[in-house]
Amino acid sequence: YYNEKTMLYYDGKFLEASKASTDLYGQSLHYGYAVFEGIKSYQTKNGTKIFKAEEHYDRLKKSAELMMIPFEYSTQEMIDITYQLLEMNNLGNAYIRPLVICSPNMGLLKGSKSFLVIQAWSWDNGYLSDHVKVMTSSFERPNPKAFRIEAKASGHYVNSILASQEAKDKGFNEALLLDGNGNVAESSGANVFYEKDSKLYTPAKGSILPGITRATVFEICDQLGIKYEEKFFKPEEMEGADAAFFCGTAAEIIALESLNTIPFQLKWEQSKSALIQKAYSHLVLQEDYSYLKLPQYV
Ligand code: PMP
Repeated sequence: YYNEKTMLYYDGKFLEASKASTDLYGQSLHYGYAVFEGIKSYQTKNGTKIFKAEEHYDRLKKSAELMMIPFEYSTQEMIDITYQLLEMNNLGNAYIRPLVICSPNMGLLKGSKSFLVIQAWSWDNGYLSDHVKVMTSSFERPNPKAFRIEAKASGHYVNSILASQEAKDKGFNEALLLDGNGNVAESSGANVFYEKDSKLYTPAKGSILPGITRATVFEICDQLGIKYEEKFFKPEEMEGADAAFFCGTAAEIIALESLNTIPFQLKWEQSKSALIQKAYSHLVLQEDYSYLKLPQYV
């Protein structure tokens, strides 16, 4: 993630990553009481562009608010800092990780002071390879009555680590987590869609992180005239569907091969989902994808 030349942003300053340090007596380290974002920038024909920068930094502010973490930065300030950081590190295609930590305080009341850290590293698509085999996890998503599930809070990701590792240990590539009612929720770090009879379905809000990529998929569907629906459904409804994909900033749009060893039926290239994947890859590069509306595609 970093070498001796890498710079990061920490509480008002740019610092060498190898020289940055943090307090060991803090709520973020001890209790996972911190919020973060996962953002990507792309090298486009118009220069390096952060995809959905406003949406990500607005969500970071919202996450801090939901977790009662005091946090003063404006979205525009954070966007400006991030572009400076990318330039300083000579990054085009990058993964950007802003993190808001609370320190120094070891108590169990809300944080009194927070610090913004922004890290960035080169990211040439390495989240998951294609042909992703997914299993229903034995771990549920955190109960939305126990956590602010729509906040991107660090502590929630302990659940993600457990689920991902379980899937790996059982010979799968990723986990699909259910909510407390047995409905499909999401993956460890991505939202999920399945396709049946040319229509897309995705879990309704409630036990998911409402992803920015998920919203982008809706945007693309509207553009291309593809039907979609948000609803609660059981994993059995998704098993053996025509196609399915995970979507997230890191994952982008990634085809799933099977759920609980039951394959999805269509050849990926013949699915509407593949069109969405193609449109997304144009959108992040600020390229026009309206040709995908032509009859030979839709
Ligand atoms: N769900 C979880 C649990 C995630 O960690 C992520 C990645 N941030 C997503 C969904 C997808 O969100 P986004 O599209 O905003 O990256």
